[in-house]
Amino acid sequence: MAMPTLVIASGNAGKLAEFDQMLSPLNFSVKSQADYGVVPPPETGRTFVENALIKARAASEAAGGPALGDDSGLVVDALDGRPGIRSARFAGEDATDQDNIDKLLDELRDLPEERRGAYFYCCLVLLQHADDPAPLIATGRWHGYILEARRGTGGFGYDPVFHDPRMGATAAELPAGEKNRVSHRGRALDQLIRLIGAA
Ligand code: IMP
Repeated sequence: MAMPTLVIASGNAGKLAEFDQMLSPLNFSVKSQADYGVVPPPETGRTFVENALIKARAASEAAGGPALGDDSGLVVDALDGRPGIRSARFAGEDATDQDNIDKLLDELRDLPEERRGAYFYCCLVLLQHADDPAPLIATGRWHGYILEARRGTGGFGYDPVFHDPRMGATAAELPAGEKNRVSHRGRALDQLIRLIGAA
């Protein structure tokens, strides 16, 4: 039997690699929205869930089948929740991960460890088709704090400065399998899989 195809509404290579790894035991064939020529829609929502739905709907419409929308980002206590939904563009529209980290470290300069708390947040929205009135919605959080300098070379985005005290490592120091087990995206995906089972 052919494996069901799930379109991931993201063009972020780091995220796609994580989904590919996490979904492979479930026998889903994961495809990027780029394979369907999806033009990324404007993320006009003010919350992660709104933007995840916007992305899932655009991908589902283009692919003509089920699509998984993901919106995620870093929520920093001392910055009143910024960069939040603007995490990818924190330092500007064409900002690189390096630019975004530099800006973050700059904004948190001189703050002691106890005031550097932050969490990664992920919202996943699964639509069966573009007009699915009852999407499955799952969320996950990963708590830690922001270091004063980068550590580690794995992962993507803010991983080198996000420290998980329970793991005793930054997200960029964890092997991919470990990160996926404890991360916001891994937790949201676990929840989504339970919701699929109950639907
Ligand atoms: P999105 O593609 O609009 O959801 O933007 C997500 C942004 O949040 C990414 O570009 C990263 O900057 C950040 N982000 C989300 N998840 C992670 C992660 O697992 N590690 C590091 N940064 C992340």
